Amino acid sequence: MRLSRYFLPILRETPKEAEIVSHRLMLRAGMMRQEAAGIYAFLPLGLRVLDKICRIVREEQNRSGAIELLMPTIQSADLWRESGRYEAYGKEMLRIKDRHERDMLYGPTNEEMITEIFRAYVRSYKDLPLNLYHIQWKFRDEVRPRFGLMRGREFLMKDAYSFDVDQEGSRHSYNKMFVAYLRTFARLGLKSIPMRAESGPIGGDMSHEFIILADTGESEVFCHRDYLDFAVPGEDVSFDDGAGLQSIVDKWTSLYAATSEKHDAAAYATVPADKQVSARGIEVGHIFYFGTKYSEPMKALVAGPDGSEKPVHMGSYGIGPSRLVAAIIEASHDEAGIKWPEAVAPFRVIILNLKQGDAATDAASEQLYRALTAAGIDVLYHDGDERPGAKFATADLIGIPWQILVGPKGLASGQVELKKRADGTRTMLTPAEAVARFAQ
Ligand code: ATP
Ligand code: MG
Repeated sequence: MRLSRYFLPILRETPKEAEIVSHRLMLRAGMMRQEAAGIYAFLPLGLRVLDKICRIVREEQNRSGAIELLMPTIQSADLWRESGRYEAYGKEMLRIKDRHERDMLYGPTNEEMITEIFRAYVRSYKDLPLNLYHIQWKFRDEVRPRFGLMRGREFLMKDAYSFDVDQEGSRHSYNKMFVAYLRTFARLGLKSIPMRAESGPIGGDMSHEFIILADTGESEVFCHRDYLDFAVPGEDVSFDDGAGLQSIVDKWTSLYAATSEKHDAAAYATVPADKQVSARGIEVGHIFYFGTKYSEPMKALVAGPDGSEKPVHMGSYGIGPSRLVAAIIEASHDEAGIKWPEAVAPFRVIILNLKQGDAATDAASEQLYRALTAAGIDVLYHDGDERPGAKFATADLIGIPWQILVGPKGLASGQVELKKRADGTRTMLTPAEAVARFAQ
C-alpha cells in the first residue's frame, strides 16, 4: 500500500477526550473515529488490526473443534421472553420496534438464539458434544461507555456456546475453551491469566475471566506472580484428550488468581509476599458453564442412550476482539506510539523514503516496495513529501514492527537501514537482503 493513496488520517495533537493511552494512540494513529458515545467507526488501519485479531481467534476456536456460524444482530423479543430475560435485562438492552410494532432488540449476547437453533435440529446425545460460535457485533447500552474501544456500547464479540449431555461432558467442553483461550491470547502477544469469576446461580468452579494486567484496567485483581511465566500449551495440544486438558487447566488454576468480586483475602495472604501481585486488569475473555439455565425454560432437550429426554447442558465463552485492539496497545507502546506484535500488526513493514523526489531513493524505494509486495509481504510505503523526522514520527506512532529507511547516505554504499520498532535496534543491509529476510 502506498501511503499517498491510502486513508490514514494521522492527528498531530493529542485528543483531549481520550483518558487512556490506547484510546489516545488509536485516535492519533487514525485507526478509529467516534460516531456517538461508545460507538466507533473503524478506519482502514484499525480494521486491519481487528481483522488480524479475529483471524487468530477463529483459528484457535476451529483448532479446538468449535464450529463457526453467524447469527444476526437483531433478535426477536419473544425469544427472550421464553428465557425470562426480556424483562430481567434492564436498560443495557437496546429495544426496538419494527414497522409492525413487533418488539425487537439489538443482541447484547446470544444464549437464547443459539438455544433456539440447537433445539430446532438436535435431538440425540449422539450429536453431542457440539460447540457453535460466531463473531458478531453486540450492543449494550453501558451506563458509562469510556476508554474508547475498551468499553464501547457497540462492540465486537466472539461468543461460543457448548452443548453436552451432562456436567462431565461440559467440563471437557469448558477445558477445550480454557486452553484455546490461553493459546489465543498468547498468539496476540498478551500474557493472560485465568481468574476465578462469579459463576452465577449454579456455583462451582467453571467460570473464569481471562485478564491482562494493565494499569488502566477497570478490574482490581490479585494473583500469584508465577502465572506470568507459565508456558502456554503448544499447537500440538490434543483437544480430544480429556485427561491431558484437565491437567493443563489444573496447572493454570493451581495458584491464586481472582478479581475483586471473588477475592479471598485470607487465601491471598498465604501467597508468599514476593509472589503477590495486586494490580489492575483488563477482562479480555470470559468462559462459563451455566448448565440448563436456558435449555430448561426453552425446552432444548436431548435423548440419552436410554431414550429419556433431558435438557442439554450449556456453557458460553466470550472474547472481545474490539476491546483487544485497545488492550494490546495498553500492553505494548512507548512515548512515541504503538508497538504492534507482528501477529496483529496492520502492516509488517513500512518503507520510509527519506528523500522523496530524489532519483536514487525513489528508485530504490519503489524497487523494494515492488519486491516485498511480490513476496506477499504486507508493506506500507511512505511516499509522501514530509521531512524524515515527520516520517519517523508517523512510523513510530502507527507501530509497524519493521521500518526500512531508504536514504541517500546508505544508498551510496548500496544499503538501507532496518529498524525494529519493538526495541529500536538498527541494522544496515542491502535491499536484496531486506527482501530475503521478510520473504522467508
Ligand atoms: P465487563 O465485566 O467488562 O462489563 P462482561 O462481563 O459484561 O464484561 P461478557 O458478557 O463476559 O462481558 O462478554 C465477553 C467479552 O466481551 C468480555 O470478556 C470482553 O472482552 C467483551 N466485552 C464485554 N463488554 C464489552 C464492552 N462494553 N466493550 C468492549 N468489549 C466488551
Ligand atoms: Mg464477564
